[in-house]
Amino acid sequence: MRAFEATQHFFDVAAEHLNISAEMREALLTPKREVQVRVTIERDNGRLANYVGFRVQHDNHRGPMKGGLRYHPDVDLDETRALASLMTWKTAVVDLPYGGAKGGIGVDPSELSPREIERLTRVFVDQIHDIVGPDTDIPAPDMGTDHRVMAWFRNQWEKYHGFNPAVITGKPVEEYGAKGREEATGRGVGTLTGKLCKRLGYKPEKTNIAIQGFGNVGSHAAKFLSESQFPIVAVSDISGTYYDPKGLNVPSLLHHKLGHPRGLMEGYHQCQCLPVNALLELNDVQVLIPAALGGVITEKNVGNIKASVIIEAANGPVHPAADKALSDRGVTVLPDILANAGGVTVSYFEWVQNRQHYRWTLDRVRQELDHTMNQAFENVWQTAQERNVSLRTAAYIIGITRVRRSAELAGFAS
Ligand code: GLU
Repeated sequence: MRAFEATQHFFDVAAEHLNISAEMREALLTPKREVQVRVTIERDNGRLANYVGFRVQHDNHRGPMKGGLRYHPDVDLDETRALASLMTWKTAVVDLPYGGAKGGIGVDPSELSPREIERLTRVFVDQIHDIVGPDTDIPAPDMGTDHRVMAWFRNQWEKYHGFNPAVITGKPVEEYGAKGREEATGRGVGTLTGKLCKRLGYKPEKTNIAIQGFGNVGSHAAKFLSESQFPIVAVSDISGTYYDPKGLNVPSLLHHKLGHPRGLMEGYHQCQCLPVNALLELNDVQVLIPAALGGVITEKNVGNIKASVIIEAANGPVHPAADKALSDRGVTVLPDILANAGGVTVSYFEWVQNRQHYRWTLDRVRQELDHTMNQAFENVWQTAQERNVSLRTAAYIIGITRVRRSAELAGFAS
């Protein structure tokens, strides 16, 4: 099953609980616009290199479309479409005045120099600048892109359209970015993990956590959760799984990562080093946090997972068949469209600040983020209880209901 089919499946499960006509279902599922562009650059060695870029604008009933830009070899139309639709439901679940979109380029950024990534970004903007903008579609970071890419993107876009930093979020703080944007997804994951564990009666000190992925999201989640007394017993990145059953020293891991040229854990020896894939199947882990790629928990490996709680910090980490198996076993899954919504929430705060030419303090950003995440969690939890459905289905029910209501109130968006 491909990525879009999987998100479609989750949509369908929730739609069964709502009285929606087949035509409305189709309208809500079908992306509004899909753009595919050629991105050709000159490499530093003078040779040409060709890549394919995408921007899928899924839905704009609730406001301008919003979603990240991914630079990764797996990026294709199907994946971008799936991720764009997740953004529609995600922004609706946390009640931001946005629709959903996603974009990216099929490229391995670790093979390019910073100057090549800059050229790539500028050529991509040349191809899509007229379909994005502060009132239409606002990109942001995702896997393989960071604040520097956002700064290049904005600089290139402004060459066509003039000053308007609200065209993109996740910018450097000195360049109209928001304080707290970088930590936001990890912080949101941490807040909701703590809340869910409390609700399930787990004590932080006795709840072992394993985190797959130690990039922006995984590393900030690890920091936040270890500061909240949860033992982080394992983290992994492409170089391996780093494991200590008594709990890893997270500050020392972060220090090591900062010193590595590619931000990896490679060469960290103050714990056991296991193969990359060992992380998902460790014993004595109560909470598993996939915080890297999608599609990592499948029908094949789901039987080996020992955790009783899964927090989807990544987008789409659990395949539908695995989701069913987990729910049959009583494993609680906090779905991506709620769990990782902290990033887009602080993107919204950045956009608001840009439009008002006003700057919030870090404390204010954190306070408003915590408030938004708590509110969304309560809403999803209550819907799940009332309707006797999983947290995922409850989150989709809320998202779909809000988008559908806008479509019904105002008519189909142009
Ligand atoms: N890429 C992030 C996500 O998947 C953030 C999107 C945004 O800030 O617009 O939610």
